[in-house]
Amino acid sequence: MSGPDEFQVIAQLFAPLAQSFPGALGLTDDAALLPPDALAETVVTVDAMVAGVHFLPDDPPDLVARKLVRVNLSDLAAKGALPFAVLLAAAFPHGTSQDWLERFAHGLGQDITEFGIALIGGDTVATPGPLTLSLTAMGKVAAGRAILRSGAQAGDMVWVSGTIGDGALGLRAARGQLSLPPEHIAALADRYRLPRPRVSLGPCLVGLASAGMDVSDGLVQDLGHLCRASHLAAIIDAAAVPLSPAARAALDLDQSLLATLLTGGDDYELLFAAPSSATAPLLELAERLGVPLTAIGRMEAGSGVTVHDASGRALSLGQGGWRHFSATISGAGA
Ligand code: ADP
Ligand code: MG
Repeated sequence: MSGPDEFQVIAQLFAPLAQSFPGALGLTDDAALLPPDALAETVVTVDAMVAGVHFLPDDPPDLVARKLVRVNLSDLAAKGALPFAVLLAAAFPHGTSQDWLERFAHGLGQDITEFGIALIGGDTVATPGPLTLSLTAMGKVAAGRAILRSGAQAGDMVWVSGTIGDGALGLRAARGQLSLPPEHIAALADRYRLPRPRVSLGPCLVGLASAGMDVSDGLVQDLGHLCRASHLAAIIDAAAVPLSPAARAALDLDQSLLATLLTGGDDYELLFAAPSSATAPLLELAERLGVPLTAIGRMEAGSGVTVHDASGRALSLGQGGWRHFSATISGAGA
């Protein structure tokens, strides 16, 4: 890299984030060593983010780092895994300033501390192109117990954590495209900029959820992936989908936003199927963790996702189904 020297950046800014993990060898060797583990499986995921595509080039560097960590931890949580380490491959544009790098490393450090993980390796290069970041995250789950997309059974209930649609509305809020009271705008934009991966919930769903995934591309689309993997259909009740106060206020003003709420991305909540025998333990878990869990529908034989509107009409949400759907919804947010 022109500007700060690669080795200086690694030693000064990244090595402190490796301290808690002996196998990271202080980021002074060629590779990191994972401790042997006979009982657990290691779950691995990677997500890349490119400036101008996944975030704005002038977004605060600490939030860019934290979003990068969080989208990956959400994938681990979805599999029921407890995260322990991340690796960062970063291509910084020529001339990236020391100040920018420090703020980026600070954000990374904040989340590494918050989630009890370590940075155990990576690569640092310079690029003539846009800032490009790739984070690999690793977590542990008891061997054979990972929650897969493919395990749902007909008759299972469909659950989501938290609230749905805030990420998609948050993008609009951040762009100034929503007119709502400032506290709602702030809450929504914050949800978009800083996802809250369900890191403590995920491992607790092992043994309760039959299948699961995180909601990153929109509830309906992601549930469609779970349906395909499990060779089943899902029916969800739009009125049951949990909304934040801000999303509810937005929907009250503009009913057509329901389609955005149900299909927009960036929620990073957990979506899972569970047999009805798991209902009581799930509600206890929600109480204990302080994480809302809401049953929104059920899995059935067949294929595809159907949304029931508030008046009980079943509308199949294929391509092009949205106009009809959003036009007929009334009071679904109530
Ligand atoms: P090599 O050339 O042998 O691949 P590097 O000089 O690229 O090694 O990296 C030296 C050490 O610093 C390695 O442990 C590597 O994992 C770590 N490292 C490099 N860049 C990063 C980064 N962006 N984040 C975390 N660790 C990094
Ligand atoms: Mg080497």
